[in-house]
Amino acid sequence: MATRILVVDDEPQFERLILQRFRRRVRSKEFEFVFALNGIDALKMIKSGEQIDMVLTDINMPQMDGLTLTSELREIRPQLKIVIISAYGDMPNIRKAMNLGAFDFITKPVEFSDLETTIDKTLEEVALLKDAALAQELSKKNDRLQELDQLKTQFFTNISHEFRTPLTVIFGMADQIEEKPEAWLEKGVSLIKRNAHNLLELVNQILDLSKLESGKLKMTNIQGDLIVYLRFILESFHSLAERNDIKLSFHSNLDQLWMDYDPEKLLRIVTNLIDNAIKYTKEGGEVILNVNTFDKSQVKIEIKDTGIGISKKELPYIFDRFYQVEGSFGTGIGLSLVKHLVHLMDGQIHVESEENKGTSFFMELPVKCEAERKEQISTDLSMIHEDELNTSLIRPQAAVGFELPHLLIVEDNKDVAQYLVAYLEGHYKISLAHNGQEGIDAAFEHIPDLIVSDVMMPIKDGYELCNTLKMDQRTSHIPIVLLTAKADMDSKIEGLQKGADAYLAKPFDKKELRTRLEKLLELRAVLQKRYQVNAEEVPLETSVEISVEDEFIQLIKSAVFDNLDDIDFGIPELCKAIGMSRTQLHRKTKALTGRSTSNFVRSLRLGKAKELLHTSHLNISQIAYEVGFRDPKYFSRTFAEEFGISPNQMRP
Ligand code: ATP
Ligand code: MG
Repeated sequence: MATRILVVDDEPQFERLILQRFRRRVRSKEFEFVFALNGIDALKMIKSGEQIDMVLTDINMPQMDGLTLTSELREIRPQLKIVIISAYGDMPNIRKAMNLGAFDFITKPVEFSDLETTIDKTLEEVALLKDAALAQELSKKNDRLQELDQLKTQFFTNISHEFRTPLTVIFGMADQIEEKPEAWLEKGVSLIKRNAHNLLELVNQILDLSKLESGKLKMTNIQGDLIVYLRFILESFHSLAERNDIKLSFHSNLDQLWMDYDPEKLLRIVTNLIDNAIKYTKEGGEVILNVNTFDKSQVKIEIKDTGIGISKKELPYIFDRFYQVEGSFGTGIGLSLVKHLVHLMDGQIHVESEENKGTSFFMELPVKCEAERKEQISTDLSMIHEDELNTSLIRPQAAVGFELPHLLIVEDNKDVAQYLVAYLEGHYKISLAHNGQEGIDAAFEHIPDLIVSDVMMPIKDGYELCNTLKMDQRTSHIPIVLLTAKADMDSKIEGLQKGADAYLAKPFDKKELRTRLEKLLELRAVLQKRYQVNAEEVPLETSVEISVEDEFIQLIKSAVFDNLDDIDFGIPELCKAIGMSRTQLHRKTKALTGRSTSNFVRSLRLGKAKELLHTSHLNISQIAYEVGFRDPKYFSRTFAEEFGISPNQMRP
């Protein structure tokens, strides 16, 4: 495209001169000149948006002079380069023009070779500026692309979690059925079906979203009673809510409301909103569906919860595709789909939320009655009544063999939990927790021998669980296996840094899980050897975790040795000194040393006695009192039990 130069001069012959002089470059379409006879016409031309790359202007003109034009142009197009044509020797005007921002000047009578150089030089500058602007725009575009790219990666990570969780159940149950068809056929098949259905739902959501974005999703309205329909949808969440101890209620100022709506799309919208409300509300909370009309043309639907809320910072973004508040789980599609669908229905949606108080989604839909009246509730709806989970299967196994190691499973997905229990029961005494916080509480209460935990969970995730338990002396020794769909290396490292002992990606191989668990218990046996006070020293490479446990053992030792001759220093006093409950102390000592607390304390006392036998001249009774035994006879007997010979024989 030719470079367009606007020439402003009140002498018409100037136009002819220029065209003649530059005819070669005009003919080759390099330049195109446009002419104006005064400032006002020139300004009009530019204001009308005509493309002009530079301006060449005389100073003295009727109506609007060149200086005024220059200052006007600075206002409306600051980037535009202006070259002033001035009488030779008219220094003050040239100075003024330059101060107003003119780019250069030439003098009259115009020397055309000088004019040509000046034009070329000015246009070079214009080109440079254009390049810079282009580069800036490109870099902005690039940033936006990168941002989107990041969101996409995040999305794929999340979606892989969403896919892997049902796949874990499907694979696992298929194995289970293969191995023991009698026991698993019925239950297993229904679990497989339900999880396959979840996968399908997920795929449908993704497809809907892409159809929506390309404008291919169409509405199919029926006329029906909205109140009945909404009640019905809410009702289908009852068992899910009940399991999470959340109250559901329905309020409306209307008994019925006949209007047009697309049942399938409305189902999607309301299901997503209620699903979120339940997902992000803690036990004991409430989810309310409010339906009201204030005038005949509009209905207002509110879905309100008393859940964790959304921070001010996050609130503006939650309708964006793939956006999730940090620490959430899911795919981040739900709300974006909701918003698109609401707009498709010519409706509006907005959200209000306060952290730790709750969230309300408000939806306004136009009320129209043009479609055909129909008794609604399509058969499709049976799909959302998918909830006959057999909970009896996943209750903690109360009285399974006392000897079995105690395994705590922390998993929010009930199907995965059920599958794990099915596979591991008989080998472990199992308890279940449904989120990270419950897991932490259960771990402190029971001090289990092993923990298997999911990573992505509500309230507290697997990393937080790991971190909390590993930092606390009561639970630091418990091996933790993290189960996760985030198979990428980064989260692996994150998990291990927080102290996870092993890491398995979903869908995991069940044999591998079992082997991992066994290996971890074996490792504990090595640890127990290390803390056998009165056996040969077992040299072990000291790793960080071990030094934490060393510290704990050292703590017991100092407490016992500081009170060695105090025969009243018993377990309650020790608990107090260490700051743990009796059970916690017992479970931890047992895990580390293989002995009960009292047995361990006794072995410490006896070890001291053995030392005294070698280094002092005290008689046996004196030594017994010295290490806190009330009865010398009892002392001798336990000494023989511990070391295989009597104190007398031990004497050098
Ligand atoms: P998906 O629905 O695709 O499985 P998701 O629930 O994480 O995943 P959205 O439904 O799009 O995604 O929600 C986006 C984010 O908004 C969520 O990650 C969550 O953090 C936040 N959010 C949505 N609804 C609520 C709510 N009722 N209370 C608190 N936070 C919410
Ligand atoms: Mg959601």
